[in-house]
Amino acid sequence: MPARPPPPSEPVIYHVDAHDRLVEMNEAWSAFASENEGAHLLPPGIHGRSLWDFVSGPTTQEIYRELLARVRASGRPFRFRLRCDSPDLRRLLSMTLSAPRAPKVRFEVRTVEIQPRPAVPLLDPQVPRASRCLASCSWCKRISVPGEGWLEVEKAVWALGLFEQSVLPALSHGACPQCHRTMLRAIEDYGNSRRGTDPVLGPLVRA
Ligand SMILES: [Zn+2]
Repeated sequence: MPARPPPPSEPVIYHVDAHDRLVEMNEAWSAFASENEGAHLLPPGIHGRSLWDFVSGPTTQEIYRELLARVRASGRPFRFRLRCDSPDLRRLLSMTLSAPRAPKVRFEVRTVEIQPRPAVPLLDPQVPRASRCLASCSWCKRISVPGEGWLEVEKAVWALGLFEQSVLPALSHGACPQCHRTMLRAIEDYGNSRRGTDPVLGPLVRA
């Protein structure tokens, strides 16, 4: 397995303005985009683009819209951890939203933990896709397998017999029921107290 650079120590920081347009990305944003085939996410082209062009799925958008509204209203930080995997890495990130200069909202993303793994073609955007679609969760990155619930991607690949296919199903991006419930409850708790919350969506299991 090729050597991997250590997790970046610098957090990725970006802001959205009052109209939810992406502004003020730091250099770590560009470094992260370059390392993850995100050429379309690099400045200067990304400046002024709507956040909502990059948040897939109505349920996930609804959760983020609620979160932005609450953070803008209070200015207090809201923190959560979520998965942001690539084909050959399981990656747990910590995301903190805050609004010290509301209505501008600041996003700070830190890498909490990375686990290398054999590449999973189902997560590779270069692999050809069939018209049928599998539901995946934008927050914990599990895949919905009929009759078996939501499984980590490696287990889903085996359960669905996808390991020997050259054309793979497309992935839709929503929220699994567990992450949906967890985020709504955390947002509610955040609104009702002065405390921060820190739900973990898709925790990594130590090998
Ligand atoms: Zn989930």
